Amino acid sequence: MTIAKVEAYWLRCPIPQPKQHRSDYGLLTDFDMTLVVVTTEDGQRGFGEAKAAVGSSGVCASIVTCVEHELAPILVGRDARNINELWERMYNGVRDHYALARGRVFPILGNRGLTVAAMSGVDMALWDLLGKSLDAPVVQLLGGAMRPSMPAYASGGWADADGIGEQLQSYVNKGFRAVKMRVGVMDETVANSVARVRAAREALGPDIKIMTDAHGTFSVPEAKQFCRGVEDCSLYWFEEPISPDNKRGTAEVRASTSIPIAAGESEFTRFNVRELIDHRAVDVLQPDAAIIGGISEARRVAALAATYQLELAPHCWGSAFSFMAGVSLAFASPAAVIIEFSSGGNPMMYDLVHENIVAPDGQLLAPNKPGLGLSLNWDFVNEYKQ
Ligand SMILES: [Mg+2]
Repeated sequence: MTIAKVEAYWLRCPIPQPKQHRSDYGLLTDFDMTLVVVTTEDGQRGFGEAKAAVGSSGVCASIVTCVEHELAPILVGRDARNINELWERMYNGVRDHYALARGRVFPILGNRGLTVAAMSGVDMALWDLLGKSLDAPVVQLLGGAMRPSMPAYASGGWADADGIGEQLQSYVNKGFRAVKMRVGVMDETVANSVARVRAAREALGPDIKIMTDAHGTFSVPEAKQFCRGVEDCSLYWFEEPISPDNKRGTAEVRASTSIPIAAGESEFTRFNVRELIDHRAVDVLQPDAAIIGGISEARRVAALAATYQLELAPHCWGSAFSFMAGVSLAFASPAAVIIEFSSGGNPMMYDLVHENIVAPDGQLLAPNKPGLGLSLNWDFVNEYKQ
């Protein structure tokens, strides 16, 4: 399975107006992604996603260049099945031979940021390729599913205090027993965020799990005030209360409240996640396989979660490929109990692939198709590639 080609496509698809939403990222009018395609000499193909932004829209020109001009030359001609070795070669660059000989990293300058995100797309495509070549789902390659099905939570919740109850109830009406709403700077004041959460709890009653996500936008004092204001709302978790650049601050917020703190979608590599753990900043780890260093690195984070008795909840907001990577990881991990399911307008989940991705009654079934279980809609790719 010699690698012949490594390509990347920047796809940008408009979101229909009724499905658009506004958050601290602004009004999202389109959904962007980088699709990575690894092709072997015998014509087998694996697909992955590399993220240039945590939000739904972003400019993917740099990441495409990184995949095709920096990573592809490292990969072409090598055996696609040796994912561990290829990861080390991408991460260590010209000093890869030291890393392989001495068993520690000699990383490239781009050992965080877009280079690691680009690596993530390649790594995901390699897992997809390996699974297809063995006729095995990625979850099987990761050791198999721990359970036949898992609950999903509907991720959305942008409406104001008057509308949030109805918006979240619409997810519950589809069968979800857990929902996530956005809070933070988009609400202008902490009091508004608190009022929206209290309205949500009142509308949904005591039995629906509610998560909140501030996208890292509160200050430390604001996050503490928010926690105090919703301490009695029985939140399942509070996600990215403050900037991922302030891990001590996140720990300070966590120490001030009984609400579990979640973070990790903005982190690169297990080394960043180790800092979150060292600072005792989190209860829930949320690696994104399209950012953190691929399925390979996300599984190392899953092992950290199990080791430190933290919950694992992979960040699954993206295309069908990063979604299925996160789902595969969650099913294979003893530390995961619930999976994110996007409730925003997302053509990359539904139109990019031929499969119909659904969570009937708010449940996801363990993946059972080879690789990531997806077949690419090339017509969509050709229509929306930049
Ligand atoms: Mg989030």
